[in-house]
Amino acid sequence: MINVKILTGYPEMFPGGLAYSIIGKALKENIFTIETINLHDFGNDNRKSVDDEPFGGGPGMILRPDVVEKALLSLPNIKNSKSTKLYLTPSGSLLNQKKLGVLAKLDEIIILCGRFEGVDQRAIDILGFEEVSIGDYVLAGGEIAAQVLLEGCIRLIPGVLGHPESLLEESFSSNLLEYPQYTRPKVWEDSLGNKHDVPEVLTSGHHNNIKKWRLNKSVEKTKKIRPDLYIKKKQKQD
Ligand code: SAH
Repeated sequence: MINVKILTGYPEMFPGGLAYSIIGKALKENIFTIETINLHDFGNDNRKSVDDEPFGGGPGMILRPDVVEKALLSLPNIKNSKSTKLYLTPSGSLLNQKKLGVLAKLDEIIILCGRFEGVDQRAIDILGFEEVSIGDYVLAGGEIAAQVLLEGCIRLIPGVLGHPESLLEESFSSNLLEYPQYTRPKVWEDSLGNKHDVPEVLTSGHHNNIKKWRLNKSVEKTKKIRPDLYIKKKQKQD
């Protein structure tokens, strides 16, 4: 079971997408829990503001460190806790499947969601937040990024997926992208009347050939779409 605590200015955005499908089922079954802490409850002055202008100038607003600390300290037992604390930011280290596997084994994760231009660096450094990015692009806030991270992590907890063996052959598990998949109808007639069959080998019942075909397709696709991954795979083999 993972207890997730989320520091956010928009608690109503949770559980959001995490309430659906297999992740929603895991939430109902208490395989993980989500508690939100509203940063606005810890704002300053009577406007309860949580952000201020950047020192040195520049556009936008920065989340104040004192607000983040007060929100964090409102969590019971936080002083003795060794919980992993993550701050989601495009300038963090890039999230990958391996990191999700590490996170899926934790008991508690505390996630700080930024907004505006980001968070005062002192809050990140002094309060011990690890900076994690979900990709090389910039979102408007950390809430959706937190849901991406959590969805990827929760599905790795044993018992969450209906078919745990699907974890074994997935994209990235061996630095290869997944092979293409097909289902019924065997011959699909599209709206223009063209017929499209599935690759013959998949309906041959010949398991060894299917395995070989899938590996070839994975390699082909990885070389074309993610040559960086393919190089990594080759380096591991050598
Ligand atoms: N000025 C910042 C961007 C701030 S975006 C910069 O250039 O780095 C506002 C908030 O959205 C961030 O504080 C962060 O919590 C979230 N966010 C945006 N893009 C993200 C990404 N790729 N991964 C994780 N969080 C992201």
